[in-house]
Amino acid sequence: MHELDSAALVRGARVTEIADDGGLVTVRAAATKTGGAGTRITSRLLVAADGSRSLMRSLLGIPATSRTYPDHYVMGDFEGTGENLNEAVLYLEAEG
Ligand SMILES: Cc1cc2nc3c(=O)[nH]c(=O)nc-3n(C[C@H](O)[C@H](O)[C@H](O)COP(=O)(O)OP(=O)(O)OC[C@H]3O[C@@H](n4cnc5c(N)ncnc54)[C@H](O)[C@@H]3O)c2cc1C
Repeated sequence: MHELDSAALVRGARVTEIADDGGLVTVRAAATKTGGAGTRITSRLLVAADGSRSLMRSLLGIPATSRTYPDHYVMGDFEGTGENLNEAVLYLEAEG
């Protein structure tokens, strides 16, 4: 990507606004607390890949189907040392 356009990848920017005029999409982004700079990009196509709580999807009014589970649990990724080195393991305890 850097070889094709060294300015194409913008780091340290948080999208705050999207304007879609039907032909072009303009994205405004603010600098994050950890650095970077604000920017404004206009393009024919926007791909939103900002996760499950997508601000871009909600700004564009794109609905999402979601459901809640009755369980509550804490999830983490840790380096394994035991017998389940190559497996994902969920421990659900009756006490919660
Ligand atoms: C602890 C944990 C363990 C998991 N383990 C597994 C697993 O083993 N297997 C599995 O299949 N899934 C797992 N998941 C779920 C998996 O991580 C997610 O489903 C996956 O990361 C979703 O990818 P994504 O690219 O859509 O979004 P994300 O990985 O959430 O990436 C979204 C990106 O968008 C950026 N972003 C958000 N808002 C803005 C904005 N306004 N402007 C600019 N950038 C923005 C974020 O900074 C982030 O970098 C796990 C999740 C967690 C929390």
